[in-house]
Amino acid sequence: MTQQESSSGVLSEPKPCGECSLCCKVFDVAELNKPKGVWCRHFVKGTGCGVHATRPHVCSSYQCVWTLAAPLDERWRPDRAGFVINPLPQATEMELVVDPGRPDDWRREPYYSQIKRWADRDAGPLSRVLVRNQGRVIVVFPEAEIDLGPPTGLPNIDSGYEWRDGRLQPYARYAKADEPARGGTA
Ligand code: SF4
Ligand code: SF4
Repeated sequence: MTQQESSSGVLSEPKPCGECSLCCKVFDVAELNKPKGVWCRHFVKGTGCGVHATRPHVCSSYQCVWTLAAPLDERWRPDRAGFVINPLPQATEMELVVDPGRPDDWRREPYYSQIKRWADRDAGPLSRVLVRNQGRVIVVFPEAEIDLGPPTGLPNIDSGYEWRDGRLQPYARYAKADEPARGGTA
């Protein structure tokens, strides 16, 4: 553990982004009418943000998980990995937002095996791993991936395990706000 690293592996000082700017592509920025999945019109290849001093607060305040997580080495820098790990309000959930130009790179190693380990709800602190890929939402389980397709407008994703065909099997679905978990395990 370094001096800057807490016992939970979170750095007190974020890693520098270096040449990465992937968040300037994968996310939407409402203030700029920038849709997700395309480079921001202010992004300049080789130098980064062309309006650095006046960029929106949502840009200047953003830190992806890679910048804060000590255990994630340089291979996990988003421009190298091909996806951004997005911090979520619920720290027990993980969301990968994939570069639409590299939709399958999250399935490479060393990423895929680690993502599958994170998705094991019994083995670690995470309750759910989501992959947002080309407008679709994929719920990852160790033994399966369930592609929910594009968001439907329903606010929740209900996922877990349910008994089917005599054994516990993973399920995932979009759900209304007040719908109880179908499988009983969230
Ligand atoms: S995706 Fe992360 S590492 Fe890349 S520019 Fe954004 S905050 Fe920095
Ligand atoms: S304004 Fe700058 S920091 Fe924000 S998305 Fe555009 S290029 Fe990136």
